[in-house]
Parts: sequence; structure tokens; C-alpha cells
Amino acid sequence: MDLKQRFFSMFDLASKIFSPPICSCCKQFLHERSVFCNSCDKKISPIISLPLKITQSRQMRIMAVCEYKEPVRSLILAKRYRNCLSSNQLAQLIWEKTFLKNMEYDLLVPVPLHWTRSAKRGFNQANVMANYLSKKSGVAVVNLVKRCRQTGYQAGLSAEKRYENVKDSFVLCDKKEEYKGKKIVIIDDLVTTGATIRAVAKSLLPLKPKSIIAVVAARVV
Ligand SMILES: [Zn+2]
Repeated sequence: MDLKQRFFSMFDLASKIFSPPICSCCKQFLHERSVFCNSCDKKISPIISLPLKITQSRQMRIMAVCEYKEPVRSLILAKRYRNCLSSNQLAQLIWEKTFLKNMEYDLLVPVPLHWTRSAKRGFNQANVMANYLSKKSGVAVVNLVKRCRQTGYQAGLSAEKRYENVKDSFVLCDKKEEYKGKKIVIIDDLVTTGATIRAVAKSLLPLKPKSIIAVVAARVV
């Protein structure tokens, strides 16, 4: 073992002592660092991807790890407490449990928050997730879309109202030639009716993307 290896093994040991791996759901200690213990992990049942219409002639698929329920639900809700770790864990689950790692794509585009909301919260969950997935895949995160107006919270609105609420709230903020004709993956934590994802996808269409797909941690079925 050379000096560098020794340093990293000591660092690894120290990080285990100071933050021992625990299950994010039932909090029991784990032998290996992972998001959930085996029995909590078994509660996550995979779901098939759904098609979503962007325009009359174009549709996209939404790929999700699972339904919006425990144990993943708590990780999504942790963003209210400025919990960046849980965002990384959601991204880790996407990496482990979806086909993203086997796909070919050129850009990761996180769903943006309006700056007032991200200033209040301190971070954007989708952004943190996209950066984590970028490290895993080597594909760049590009903030191509900006939220141009503050929208009310979507919870409690009907599907139609949600779409009206977000319809014109995203704008494409970079039309560089290098982003044209690419395979784009939109990243978010949660999809409910698909109104937000659809509005983001629509704002990307002037780039004439070769393909658009959305990958999220959970989906309300
Ligand atoms: Zn557990």
C-alpha cells in the first residue's frame, strides 16, 4: 500500500466513524454504504415508464424509480429542510434502479426553481441530483431553462389548472449551436401530473432536440 492508498483508506475509515452508514428510512446501521437497508429497499417496486405528450406531434417518456410513497417519499420531502444529502441519495437511486446508466445522452437539464424559491431554500433539489448524475455518467449539466415567473405551489390543483399554472413560466436561456439536435435528459425529483416537465420540454423544442426524456425519482401514479 503506497502513501496515497494509505491516506485514502484512512480517510474512508474516518468518514465511516464520523458518519456511519445508516438506512435513510429505518435508521438502522448498515455494513455497506447504501441509501436503504435490504428490507426498506425491498419496499421500492419499479414502475414502467410513461409516455407524455409535449405537443400534438411530439411525445416524451417519463422514467421514474418508483411510485411516490415510502421510503422514497421522505427523501423527496427532506428538501424542505435544506437536506442536500437526500437529493444525492435520490440521484443514487436513479442511477441504481433506472436504465439511465445504460442510455446514451448528451445533456442533463434540471428543472429550475424560481430564484426566490431557491434563495429561500438554499438549493434546488433537481440541480443537486443532476450534478450527482453528471459525476456518475460524465455527461454535462446545462441549465438551459430558466423559470421566468414565480408560480404558485402546484399541490392541491387539478391537472388542468396545474398546466395553466406553469404553461408559460419556463424560457430557454441558451440557444447556442452546440446545444442543438442533442439527446436531452430532464431531471427532477417528482412528477405528479407531468405539467411542469411538459412545460420544460416545450421550452427546449426550439433547440430541435434529437430526443427528450425525463428521469425522476418518483411519480404520483
Ligand atoms: Zn431500513
